[in-house]
Amino acid sequence: MASCSSRPVLGFTLLLAAVATLLLRDAHRVRVDALQAVVRAAPHSLLGPAAVFAAYVAALAVLGPALPGWVYPGTLLADGRTRLYYKCNGFLILTLCVTLFLGAYAVVGAAPAVYAADRSWALFLVANAAALVLAALLLAKHRLLSAGGVEASANRPRFSSPLSLLRDFVLGAELNPRLLGTELKFFWLRPSMIGWQLLNLSLAVKQLETYGFITDRMLLYQLLTGAYILDYFWYEPKMTSTWDIIAERFGLMLIWGDIVFISFAFSLQARFLLHDVRPLPAWQAAATLATTVSGAVLFRGANSQKHAFKRQPRRAARPVRTFANGRLLASGFWGVARHINYTGDLLLALAFCLPCGDGPGGALAFFYFFYLLLLLVHRAGRDEQRCAAKYGDAWREYCAAVPYRMVPGLY
Ligand code: NDP
Repeated sequence: MASCSSRPVLGFTLLLAAVATLLLRDAHRVRVDALQAVVRAAPHSLLGPAAVFAAYVAALAVLGPALPGWVYPGTLLADGRTRLYYKCNGFLILTLCVTLFLGAYAVVGAAPAVYAADRSWALFLVANAAALVLAALLLAKHRLLSAGGVEASANRPRFSSPLSLLRDFVLGAELNPRLLGTELKFFWLRPSMIGWQLLNLSLAVKQLETYGFITDRMLLYQLLTGAYILDYFWYEPKMTSTWDIIAERFGLMLIWGDIVFISFAFSLQARFLLHDVRPLPAWQAAATLATTVSGAVLFRGANSQKHAFKRQPRRAARPVRTFANGRLLASGFWGVARHINYTGDLLLALAFCLPCGDGPGGALAFFYFFYLLLLLVHRAGRDEQRCAAKYGDAWREYCAAVPYRMVPGLY
């Protein structure tokens, strides 16, 4: 497990099987009768949600360039020359969206605020369709422009094969596709993360309207996830150096993962909490807060340390220990484990699930945690392969000095 070169495929498969068994056991807890009703009444039942979804994405696309914001340089692209620039005003856009949501609730009443909660299956179907359409359009754009030789080679990853249509559709053909100057991959996280926030708020308002109060559990979940989403947009410039931006191509996997998974699966706990009016025991609140604090320290601490190190290698995490001629940080959080930021993220994910543990969702209440566990264990393996190829012997030396990936002594 500790070795850099080992490929823990068997371990990952066993983990996947264990998680799938646990979740499938409780699959009946997700009520699909409302989904069946939406499907039976389609396409009529989907027209309104499709218009709302399109207007929402279009509004965010317009707000990005229209509102003020700092422009940050991204990392160098694969050609070693080209650098993209990102206008990071997501925090302002999130604040505006949440203010509009709460303002509409105060002025107009509950109808617009509970729209997403009441029509979440229809919106879910629309988001799926939008992901498929966007992935198809991007593939078509890539093929057409490639055939004409118009596209800049810097924007095309070296390992892309023009013949593998399906792979390009699912995994993406381009690393950083752009439209009217907007880098789509960076943009697409906005409707996804803000969508998660708005869906959460909609479910909280739905609870308030249904029962006349918001439970401690719901409040705690809302505060924690709200802080996480705020943190994400506050530190949006740091996203420019993450794996998704620098290494993952923009295809169905990422498009769907963002808009469908982040918005709808991450808000599953709020859905279970909607009708869970049991009081929250003090021990459960304390365990949730302790897990949050530990996770936040590791998550934000490690990500900030790496970001600062990449910008000014000599000033980060004193005393600085490095490998690869000062390109790999091996002190501070990065001297504890090679993916300690993932460990922090997982603790936060666990904290978001704890308020609805032992509730009506069963193991499904921990869906977000399990999903992230699988994603990050898999991601750690992929990232290590990339780093081993990029840094060669220096990466192996770093692995020998910092032998564990996520939990010292365990993994
Ligand atoms: P990282 O931010 O850890 O980025 C990995 C890259 O960082 C490597 O490819 C390498 O790139 C560089 N690197 C790795 N180790 C070192 C080191 N010791 N010193 C210097 N540079 C190093 O991973 P991600 O982009 O995957 O994740 C970023 C955050 O986003 C994490 O906290 C993760 O938990 C979170 N995340 C959340 C998800 C969610 O759904 N909630 C999904 C995915 C991620 P280089 O070529 O620059 O050296």
